[in-house]
Amino acid sequence: MRIVSADEAAAEILAVASLQPALRFPLAAALGHVLAEDIVADIALPPWTNASMDGYAVRAADILGATPDRPARLRVTSAIAAGHADGASIGPGEAARIFTGAPIPAGADSVVRQEDTQRDDDVVVVQRDRDASANVRAAGGDVARGACALPARTVIGPHQLALLAALGISQPMVHRGPRVAIISTGDELCTLDHPDEISSGRRLADVNSPALAALVAEAGGVATALGIAPDDADALQTMIESAGDADVIITAGGVSVGDHDHVREVMRARGATMRFDRVRMRPGGPTALAMLPDGRPWLALPGNPVSAMVTFELFARPAIRAMAGRRDPLRERFGATLISDAPRDATLEQYLRCVFASPTDDGRVNATLTGPQGSGMLTSMARADGLIVIPAGSGVVSAGNIVTALRFA
Ligand code: AMP
Ligand code: MG
Repeated sequence: MRIVSADEAAAEILAVASLQPALRFPLAAALGHVLAEDIVADIALPPWTNASMDGYAVRAADILGATPDRPARLRVTSAIAAGHADGASIGPGEAARIFTGAPIPAGADSVVRQEDTQRDDDVVVVQRDRDASANVRAAGGDVARGACALPARTVIGPHQLALLAALGISQPMVHRGPRVAIISTGDELCTLDHPDEISSGRRLADVNSPALAALVAEAGGVATALGIAPDDADALQTMIESAGDADVIITAGGVSVGDHDHVREVMRARGATMRFDRVRMRPGGPTALAMLPDGRPWLALPGNPVSAMVTFELFARPAIRAMAGRRDPLRERFGATLISDAPRDATLEQYLRCVFASPTDDGRVNATLTGPQGSGMLTSMARADGLIVIPAGSGVVSAGNIVTALRFA
């Protein structure tokens, strides 16, 4: 029996979280995925030198010294709109009417903003020289051709997606999210397809399948909820087989040591190697990690939905993120100030559900417990902004002390 701390358990599962293979995804579907290769620009951005204002493309030398009293008068020889007029050029004493984004004609090096000009037939009268050598965006000024625009392992958010689109990349190579099979266990459970069973109180709604599927998706995995395995070793075996080629298996429930808890038995029967059997924490003590003979991790979470969600947060989420290529699999931890005493447990580290107040003027974040912390209290999760960690020990951690905290979002 290997019993580990929560930090050790997280390290164990991260150690077996293998980076997922790379695939090309359509750009929109790549949102939230991690780039599997450096994006080297095939084109420069901007692709051509262009105007950053509406006005007149001119030669700086022709307008230097211009004032309202002594304006420069230039002959307008062409008009260039965005998307038009390649090959235009101007000579000395000439100007081209130009619009934002349009290519700067050969011979021009400045765009005089419209407000500084007056038009007199085919002549533009330039009254100021403040735009000499200005308002021109150089080709490649954003990204040079051949430069690395985004390095591998960048997370594709909307802003990165914009850069990929600008480079004309419609199918970036990304790490795919791990496929996660989810199995609930328990004879007392039924799916939401049986509202009469639930409303009559004969059965309990299976909370873990939808909750864990949602958590998997949020972590960047692809969830398949396989359903509810009854409390029977053979049935659970069959269900585990139906996980097919899932990259990770997560079961919830049946991992305690009661007569109806068959997860450990099935792990043994399948020849799995245990990485840990229990975690010194509350909620979530009966959490186990086994490696199937084919190398896939099977994370067995406790059935109690609060315990399942807290242990998912601490162990499954980092593993799924690491497999999807995230370099920051763990949540950032910060210090929060307890506003009431928290009793310690002699041997177990406790993960309490909290609401965090906005930071005070001196930067403190006050943490208030979300009411009773029994592991059956679903509202304690539903109301919580995150968790605080109460280390094992004697007595209490008193109000005013700073404890380690993490936020769910
Ligand atoms: P177990 O870990 O199987 O002993 O389950 C612990 C407690 O959580 C029991 O009260 C179960 O009824 C409950 N439970 C287990 N799985 C689920 C589930 N999927 N949805 C709701 N409650 C569950
Ligand atoms: Mg059970």
